Parts: sequence; structure tokens; C-alpha cells
Amino acid sequence: MTDTHVQHTWQLAHDNGDEITIDLWTDGYSVRVDGGPDDGDDDERGQQAVEQLLAKYTAAGYQPVCDYPVNDTETHDDEAPATEPDGKPEQCPECGDPVEYVANHYADFREGEAWLCTGCRWGQWVTA
Ligand SMILES: [Zn+2]
Repeated sequence: MTDTHVQHTWQLAHDNGDEITIDLWTDGYSVRVDGGPDDGDDDERGQQAVEQLLAKYTAAGYQPVCDYPVNDTETHDDEAPATEPDGKPEQCPECGDPVEYVANHYADFREGEAWLCTGCRWGQWVTA
């Protein structure tokens, strides 16, 4: 059996040895229950259904064992936002306005990471 249609899986276990697997499919709304009192059930309310099922089963004595992404669509996103380096000034030393991070600031024949004041445009190069 292939699991390429599964986005995320939750596993629960009962003291009596019963196990339940809940799969959320990559379409984002199909939910399939395997094992337990609802074995084979489908639901099409996505994450909302998963949370209701988890609450229902934990109330019935099942303990969450683990949950893990199978084919998490979001982890394949390579476009991570530019991360701001440490050491950001609290505020502009000149006028007190907030300072923002600029990844490719150009000034004085130089280009690179800099802190820039949103008010007076005071600037300081980010030094690692
Ligand atoms: Zn300023």
C-alpha cells in the first residue's frame, strides 16, 4: 500500500492494546480512521475532524503515541523568508524610530546587510 496520499498521521493506543491511526490526506480535508470504534470511517472536515477525533479518543482512554508528517506539503517550500540576524538595535540612536533589517542595502559603493531607521534613514552595516 502506498501512502503518497497521506499528509500527516496520528497514532493512539489504549491500555487494552487497541490502536488507532488517523490519516489526514494531502488534499487537506480527507480524514481516514484505521482501528478503534470508528475503524474505516472517513471524514471530510480535515484538521477540524482530526482534532475532534483526537479529543474523543483521548476521552475514551486512548493515549496519543505520536504524530508525524508523511508527505507534508508545506515542508517542500524552499522559499524561506530572509532571516533577520541577531543584534538588531532596539531603536534608531539618532531619532528613536524603529530600525528595520535590509538584506541588500546599497550605500557608499557597498552593498550588503544593514539596519536602517524607518524615520531618518540612519543606517548601520550588519557585522557578523
Ligand atoms: Zn532615525
